[in-house]
Amino acid sequence: MKYGFVIDQRKCIGCHACTVACKMENDVPLGAFRTWVKYIEKGEFPNTRRYFAVLRCNHCDDAPCVTICPTVALFKRDDGIVDFDSSRCIGCKSCMQACPYDALYIDPNTHTAAKCNYCAHRTEIGLQPACVLVCPEQAIIAGDLDNPLTEIARLVAREQTSVRKPEQGTRPKLYYLGADDAALTPGVAERPDSYMWSQRPREHDNVLSLSRPLITVEPSMPVAKESPPDLTVSPRGEERGKGPIARIREVYDVYHAQPWGRKVSGYLWTKSIGAGALLAAALASLLGPSTGNVLNVVAPVVALLFTAITTVLLVLDLKRPDRFLYVLFKPNPRSWLVYGAWILIAYGGLAALWLLGGLTNAGWIGLIRWPAAFLAFATAGYSAFLFGQAEGRDFWQSPLLLPQLIAAALVAGAASLLAVSSLRPSPLAVVPSPYVILLALGLVATALVLFAELYTPHANSDVARSAKLITGGTLSPVFWGGTVFIGLLVPLGLLFISRGVPGPFAFLAAVAALAGLLIYEDLWVQAGQSVPLS
Ligand code: SF4
Repeated sequence: MKYGFVIDQRKCIGCHACTVACKMENDVPLGAFRTWVKYIEKGEFPNTRRYFAVLRCNHCDDAPCVTICPTVALFKRDDGIVDFDSSRCIGCKSCMQACPYDALYIDPNTHTAAKCNYCAHRTEIGLQPACVLVCPEQAIIAGDLDNPLTEIARLVAREQTSVRKPEQGTRPKLYYLGADDAALTPGVAERPDSYMWSQRPREHDNVLSLSRPLITVEPSMPVAKESPPDLTVSPRGEERGKGPIARIREVYDVYHAQPWGRKVSGYLWTKSIGAGALLAAALASLLGPSTGNVLNVVAPVVALLFTAITTVLLVLDLKRPDRFLYVLFKPNPRSWLVYGAWILIAYGGLAALWLLGGLTNAGWIGLIRWPAAFLAFATAGYSAFLFGQAEGRDFWQSPLLLPQLIAAALVAGAASLLAVSSLRPSPLAVVPSPYVILLALGLVATALVLFAELYTPHANSDVARSAKLITGGTLSPVFWGGTVFIGLLVPLGLLFISRGVPGPFAFLAAVAALAGLLIYEDLWVQAGQSVPLS
C-alpha cells in the first residue's frame, strides 16, 4: 500500500478551502501551513493569466527529512505516509533543511516540527484527508497508488503528470496534473515586496535581490489561456537562453523562515577551534619539540572549552532544549546529527585524557596524540556529512565542504595556539614557530578551497546563485572585506612581518584569521538558505 495525492491544477480555482480545512482539522496555528496555494501571474495586462499551485508535503518515497531527523520524530509508515511524532521532536530544524519542498514548519505552541501527515488519524478509520473532502472542484485526489483499481492509480497511469523537483531523487508521491512549471519551480517568478492582500516578510531573503525574475520567457510570446508561454529554462531553473522578459510574478505565497541562524554559524566556528586545537597540536609535534605547555596543556584546554561551547550552542539552537538527550537515547542511526554527538563526546574524552597526561607529565601522552588527532579530524569534518543530508540546500552539497572544514579547523586551531604562545613567548621557542607554519598553511588551503568552491562551475543554478550572492551580491562587501582582507590577506601579511616569531604581530594575525573565519561561516550559512524552496 502506498498512499499518495494527485492535484489537478486544471480544476483548482485557488479558493484556499483546502488550507482552511487542514488548519481546522489539524489545529494548525496562525502563520503556519500544512498545505497552501501559491499564485503566480504571467504576462502584461491585458494578456495575463493566473496559475495556482497547491503545495504541501510530497510524502516522498525516499524522504530526506526522515533520514536526517536525529530522533526518529519523522518516520515513514507502512502505508507510505510520512508522519511525525511531536513527542520525540527536539526542534533541531534539520528536517526543514533536508526537505527540498518547504513542507515543514515549527509549531509555535509545541516548538516541534509539523507538516501534512495525510490526515493519518482520518485515513486510519477509512476517511479521506480533510482537504480532499472540502475541495469544491474535486481537484485533490487521494488514495492507494499501488492499487490499480483506485482513481489515483488510474490517473497516474494514464495522464501526463509532473512532480516538484524530480532531480532531487526523493520520489514524491504527490503528482500534479496541468500544473505550470513556473508555479512549481521556486525562483522562476519575480517576488514583489507585497502580495495582493498582504505584505511579504523579507527577512528570509534579505540577502537576495529578488526584484527581478530569475528566469525569463520570450517577450512577444502571447499569453493565451489554453497555451501558456514556454519557459526558456529547464524545470530546475537553468537558463537556456537570454532575452527581454515577459513578466512572471508571484502574487501570493506563504512565509517560510530561514531555519538556521547565528547559533549555527557560531557552532561551526567554535567547533573549528575545538577540533583544530588538538589537530594543530599533533601536527606541531612533528615540526618542533613534542613537549611544552602549549602542546600538552593549553591545546587540550582549548579543545575542551570550545567543544563545550559548541555543545551549548547546539543545545541552545534547539526549539526543545529540554529534550537534547533524545539524540543519545532515541537515536536515528542514519542521522549525522547522531554520529556528530557521539564524535563530540569521544573527542571530549580524549581531550580530557590529553590534559590529564599533560598535567601529570605522563609518559603515555604521546600514545593518545594521533588517535586524538584522528578524532579532531572527525569532529571538524562530520558537519560536511550533516550538511550533505540537508538536501534542500544545494549550496551545502559541495564535495569541497569536507576540505573546507578541515582547512578551517587547521586555521582555527593554529591561530588559537599561536595567540596563546604570543601572549608569553618562550625564549626557548623554536623559530619559526610550528603554529605560524600551520596557520600559514591553513590560510593558503582555505583560500584555495574557498575560491574553488565559489568560482569553479556549479552543480546547478541554485548553487551558482548562492555563490554569486557571496562574491558579487549583497553579501559581497562582507566577504571581500571580512573574509578575504581581514581573514586571509591581513594574517598572511602579519605572519610574514613576524618572521615566524610568536609576538604582537603573530597575535594580531591569529585574531584576524579567527575573525575572518567566523565571518565566512556566517556568510556560508546565510547563502545556503537564501534560495527559495517553494
Ligand atoms: Fe514531505 Fe519534505 Fe519529508 Fe518529502 S522531504 S516527505 S516533502 S517533509
